[in-house]
Amino acid sequence: MLLSVIIAVLLLLVIILALAIMYIRLHVKYKKLSRELYDFKTLCDVIQSPIWFKDKNLKLTWVNQFYAMMYDTDRESLIGLTDRDIAPKKLVDLYVRDDEYVLASKKTYKYKENEKAGLWYETTKFPLLDKNNNLYGIGGIAFNITAIKKSEKMLHNLVHNDYLTGISNRLFLSVEVTKRLAAADEGHYKLAVILLDLDNFKDLNDLHGHIVGDEILKEMANRLKKYTSEKELLLGRFGGDEFVVIIPEVYNEQIIKTTCEEIRVILKDNYQVFGAAFAVEASMGIGVYPDNSRDYEGLVRHADMALFYAKQHGRNSIVQYSDAIGNANMKRIKIESRLKGAIERGEFFLYYQPKLTADGKQLAGMESLLRWNNQDLGYVAPGDFIPIAEHSDAIIEIGDWVLRNAMLQNLQWKSKYGEMFSIAVNLSAKQIKQPDFLSKLLNLLDELNYPPKYLELELTEGMLMANDEHSLKIFEKLRSIGIKVSLDDFGTGYSNLGYLSNFPLDAVKIDRRFVTDINEIPEKQQIVSAIIQLANSFNLSLIAEGVETLSELNYLQEKGVTVIQGFYFSKPLPANDIIEFVRSVREGRYEQVS
Ligand code: C2E
Ligand code: MG
Ligand code: MG
Repeated sequence: MLLSVIIAVLLLLVIILALAIMYIRLHVKYKKLSRELYDFKTLCDVIQSPIWFKDKNLKLTWVNQFYAMMYDTDRESLIGLTDRDIAPKKLVDLYVRDDEYVLASKKTYKYKENEKAGLWYETTKFPLLDKNNNLYGIGGIAFNITAIKKSEKMLHNLVHNDYLTGISNRLFLSVEVTKRLAAADEGHYKLAVILLDLDNFKDLNDLHGHIVGDEILKEMANRLKKYTSEKELLLGRFGGDEFVVIIPEVYNEQIIKTTCEEIRVILKDNYQVFGAAFAVEASMGIGVYPDNSRDYEGLVRHADMALFYAKQHGRNSIVQYSDAIGNANMKRIKIESRLKGAIERGEFFLYYQPKLTADGKQLAGMESLLRWNNQDLGYVAPGDFIPIAEHSDAIIEIGDWVLRNAMLQNLQWKSKYGEMFSIAVNLSAKQIKQPDFLSKLLNLLDELNYPPKYLELELTEGMLMANDEHSLKIFEKLRSIGIKVSLDDFGTGYSNLGYLSNFPLDAVKIDRRFVTDINEIPEKQQIVSAIIQLANSFNLSLIAEGVETLSELNYLQEKGVTVIQGFYFSKPLPANDIIEFVRSVREGRYEQVS
């Protein structure tokens, strides 16, 4: 009996001990679990995105603080509610549909949505499964990705739109037009690319500053935007002052010319910038699909060739690509490549065209004129290669070569025949824009020990127009040491009085186009008499270029032009013929009997 009592007590003790151990274990586990739950809930509450759990009936069982805050209430009031009770009406069906998908598939589901007021969310909904894979609810979290979306959009704009004007850029257009090319094939119509570039925008920028230039570009973009959206055309900017307009459906090619003419008209009105009015003109080059190329890049290249041609042949012109332009472009490329190394190969030489006083009694100086004889292309006229050299910057090195060699030739005449002449050298805009232009020239004079009074520099009107204080000072300095400065081809450029009065000049050269047949054409007479008056009022001497006949010479002489250059007296001569020519002048061979 006692034994059985003892056994029962012991048994009880064992049971109590086991229970105590179990309790302690459970307690530890419980504490651990509740801490984990606490940590988890704390984590959920600090996350600035909504998190929620629902049961199988899609009733909320738990939400984090952010979720409650989104619905402007406390957590407890939401428990037991469904989306039908709280979510925005237009989104409820979507929410429920997604939830039901997760319930049915037991799969995680992720999607992006633009929920409200421009806010973007990336939502993940996931099934809640027990150990036996039985579903007892679903959970969800929605990350606010608005900032990411915004920067994506900014990046898209940056990549696809031009930063200054907000219109499409090169990349976007290439994607868009490539799509349209396929449509053109299907629809059996053509597509036209119009490249548009302002004439002398560079001068405008140099003269008035980039702020003014930018404003003009923005206004241009606005006008083009309005026009192209009305006509359902595509518009883009390639940077600088180059715009592109695409006519996506061309059934009749006449529409291309009409469009260009209309664009010309809308761009023509003055641009008001900071209270001042500016006028611009544009040249256009056209490429047509599929005639000129079967891909977008090719079309742009062809339009670009046509544009280049348009720019070379007068401002404000519209040119459609043709085979002749393609050939001219091939020639240009050939010239451009052969120009490289032409100095080293000794292919350049100078001719000198004498300038005589109008009475033919004295030599007034001569102009050095560059000649090029290339080993492959043969003789290339300056009118053909100088614009290309100017375009490619080769003119800087070539210009230096001309200056040095003209001076060296003059020094050679001095050492051989004991006399020097006033030699005029043509300068290009690119040369005088070089920051070291002045110092290089002064060093050259110094190095060769060349007397500056025997050097005359010929500038053109475009260069004066683009002048700034800097180039003004350079030419003042050059004149102060005795170099003469003259204005070439006068009357062909912008003929702005302001530039004439500001710029340090000695002479103007009346362009050949006004001189040819002047004795017969009243319009030319009027222009030239205006030029003469202008020159007189600024105290500039006058040189007439391209005088070919005695009648032209007589007319000009009578009007007061004192120096004559042209075939009438002499064509440009090789250096070796100059001394002979000078001799015959002195012998009176060119003297005019009046
Ligand atoms: P430019 O400076 O106006 O030179 C005068 C041009 O008229 C020369 O053409 C000359 O040969 C031509 N000419 C002169 N008298 C007559 C005439 O009575 N009738 C006709 N029909 N033409 C006449 P060229 O030598 O072909 O030079 C053309 C242009 O090339 C020059 O015009 C000048 O702008 C440029 N050029 C020539 N040499 C140089 C140079 O060394 N540097 C630069 N930057 N340009 C140059
Ligand atoms: Mg000249
Ligand atoms: Mg000239």
